[in-house]
Amino acid sequence: MRPAGPALLGRLAVVESSGMTESALTEQQLNELRSQLEQRRDNLKLQLEQSEAATQPVTLDQQSVGRVSRIDAIQQQQMAIAGKKQTAQLLRRIELALQRIEDDEYGQCMQCGESIRFARLQVQPDASLCLVCQSEAESG
Ligand SMILES: [Zn+2]
Repeated sequence: MRPAGPALLGRLAVVESSGMTESALTEQQLNELRSQLEQRRDNLKLQLEQSEAATQPVTLDQQSVGRVSRIDAIQQQQMAIAGKKQTAQLLRRIELALQRIEDDEYGQCMQCGESIRFARLQVQPDASLCLVCQSEAESG
């Protein structure tokens, strides 16, 4: 089997030298990302509404719920709460990204001000840092 590494690096180098990195997003690209963000936002809102029911305090149905299933219910509720928190955080990021589109700041790294590549935004439309700053933030 051929190692995939060098071939991939070669492809990246081509993208690098194409001059695309300097330009801001085109209107079409921005529209694409915006509708992707809006779609995600709507999905997350729906998800949150649905998990609302799952995170209500555990009520005991004395007749059908025994001790074990009560523990189950509490565990399920805790998982639902954790998931809900995560969903809410993601939703905030998405709303922030949409706000930055409004403010004409979208697609720029909040750290260094460089343009974030379209390819990166397609994968993660709520990204607010370029790859360099992101990896620096992650490494501490
Ligand atoms: Zn940056």
